[in-house]
Amino acid sequence: MSIKENLNKIKNTLPPHVKLIAVSKFHPIEAISEAYSAPHLVFGENKVQEMKEKYELLPKDIEWHMIGHLQSNKVKYIIPFVHLIHSIDSEKLLTEVQKQAQKLNKKVNVLLQFFIADEETKYGLNIEEAIEISKNYLEGKYPNIEFCGVMGMASFSKDESKIRSEFKNLKKYFLFLKENYFKNNSFKEISMGMSSDYKIAIEEGSTIIRVGSSIFGIRNY
Ligand SMILES: *Cc1c(COP(=O)(O)O)cnc(C)c1O
Repeated sequence: MSIKENLNKIKNTLPPHVKLIAVSKFHPIEAISEAYSAPHLVFGENKVQEMKEKYELLPKDIEWHMIGHLQSNKVKYIIPFVHLIHSIDSEKLLTEVQKQAQKLNKKVNVLLQFFIADEETKYGLNIEEAIEISKNYLEGKYPNIEFCGVMGMASFSKDESKIRSEFKNLKKYFLFLKENYFKNNSFKEISMGMSSDYKIAIEEGSTIIRVGSSIFGIRNY
């Protein structure tokens, strides 16, 4: 099937409150252009350099989502155009986003990424670190940050009940933070679910899914 057909097939099954991010990392401009003409205007990338190059070459009404681990020294390259940073995994990184956003006198949308899997290789905050950030937010440390919710990646596993319980944990963290610290309307997103597990994620309350290979095919690293 074509990229367009893959996209439309997935979109047709999604509840209206779930947003689809087409994860275009490692795929060329032509692949994104085909998706764009579907039409689909929301894309995710995990590397700063690649996202910036694609941003410069493609139509400016595209929404770009940073979903990969972000190094503090590269933040400044994406702040001018990024729509949402999903991958805030340390207070140090958040402090840098605040600094760069302030320079441009704008507000930047972010999600707090939680570590919910049992694999050592995945990045993310634990609840104590997230609470620390949230308290600092309430004290006014982040005037240029819009906290929009949480993000997480489940373990790479065939065990559906394990994946489901990890998504349940993320939802629990979301509700806890919303109830205690982020009572505003903008804190409303739970970014969870990829090609292999987005259906489970939606059942567990996902509002944003990040799907790559089911749309664009396998990636050549
Ligand atoms: C690559 C990636 C995805 C998409 O993965 P697929 O299995 O291709 O759907 C989603 N989220 C993150 C953070 C990724 O890095």
